Amino acid sequence: MDKKNKKVYIETYGCQMNFSDSEIVASVVTSNNFTIAGSPQEADVIFLNTCSIREHAEKRVINRLRELQHLRAKKPGLLMGVLGCMAGRLKEALLEDEKLGMRIDMVVGPDAYRQLPRLLKDAETGGKAIDVILSAEETYADIGPVRYGAGGVSAFISIMRGCENFCAYCVVPFTRGKERSRNPDSVLSEARQLFDEGYREVTLLGQNVNSYRWQDEHAGSILDFSDLLEMVAGINSRLRVRFATSHPKDISDKLIHTIAKHPNICRSIHLPVQSGSTEVLKRMKRKYTRAQYLSRIQAVKKLLPDCALSTDVIAGYCGETEDEHRETRSLMKEVAFDFAYMFKYSERPGTIAAKLFDDDVPDDVKTRRLKEIIDLQQEISLLSNRRDEGSTCEVLVEGRSKRSEDKMMGRNSRNKVVVFQGKDSKPGDYVWVKITGCTSATLMGTIVDQP
Ligand code: SF4
Repeated sequence: MDKKNKKVYIETYGCQMNFSDSEIVASVVTSNNFTIAGSPQEADVIFLNTCSIREHAEKRVINRLRELQHLRAKKPGLLMGVLGCMAGRLKEALLEDEKLGMRIDMVVGPDAYRQLPRLLKDAETGGKAIDVILSAEETYADIGPVRYGAGGVSAFISIMRGCENFCAYCVVPFTRGKERSRNPDSVLSEARQLFDEGYREVTLLGQNVNSYRWQDEHAGSILDFSDLLEMVAGINSRLRVRFATSHPKDISDKLIHTIAKHPNICRSIHLPVQSGSTEVLKRMKRKYTRAQYLSRIQAVKKLLPDCALSTDVIAGYCGETEDEHRETRSLMKEVAFDFAYMFKYSERPGTIAAKLFDDDVPDDVKTRRLKEIIDLQQEISLLSNRRDEGSTCEVLVEGRSKRSEDKMMGRNSRNKVVVFQGKDSKPGDYVWVKITGCTSATLMGTIVDQP
């Protein structure tokens, strides 16, 4: 395959970590003379970077791969590869054409993207190309991401990989392996470069950023996440800093104080609770109780009263009773999250939950409980946005509003989407907006002078 003219199309599913990984994949292939294709039709190689967090996520990918098979008729040499967590979970099973009823040429796990040039060669010569080995060291620190999808305003920076929390329902520790933190110097130089290139926001990424630890051999000191966050915030006060995701058991007062010290560290913390019942949290092996979670929330509200809080909630986990479901809803009311990601429990093969517990909550009950949680959160989000009406906030402009061409959109420090009249503003600008209206998902307003 004469690579000079060959194109790779990357389609990404799942979490922010996967989108950040796709930028590493783009970097590896473009530094091997491939170019990035804008659509599968124009590609010689199609990569789907996949998610395994729920059964539905995997079904979507399988259906998509089936959908794309017809392109082989037009391009016999076309290669298709599965990357990411599905590759790490299903491994060789993805190469069994008969069983799948379709051909997949490459299977590449989250720690094997450096091997892509070799695997592409193997696949070109008709070999089955697979590498799903997990690494205890790999952080891709020396590979500069190619931000082929980003709008030039906000960018992801992965600071660590893997997770060792082994929450009972989760596949991530099995598909992404042991925790390893990235050299802070490489994180800082990436953030500085982004600022110099005009980016005005970075999101520090990890399955659990609070587990970040770097042993500084020279200084003989250990850098934790608060230290790294402070260093990135120190690059420039016009560079906003966000981070995701935190595990409630590791969110320290030190971290909350660090956020309070730096106005450019955004006032929004994503703290997945998953359930409001201590008994369910025990069965989930989340390593905190309802009371411990609420005490962390109190600490945040005390030191950062203007901080927005978001969370993840699972409805219908193994053995969940109506009372335990009620505890989840009462916790959501008590915290009054500004936003939440809410899903039905989806049993994942190979997880601790699948081994220990029955997936015994009937699907219609899961669906009803999920609806109750979503309806409740929508009310809470609307009240939260109503409270912002009449206030003025600083917005980082990201681009045109999807819904109304004559309007611009951006987000404030609290990670709320703001749509406003502002034709003279451009992506990357900071503008002040007076909030005049809202929905449960969006704030609306007009540009005003800085108060
Ligand atoms: S913290 Fe728990 S839920 Fe999150 S990635 Fe790790 S094991 Fe999964």
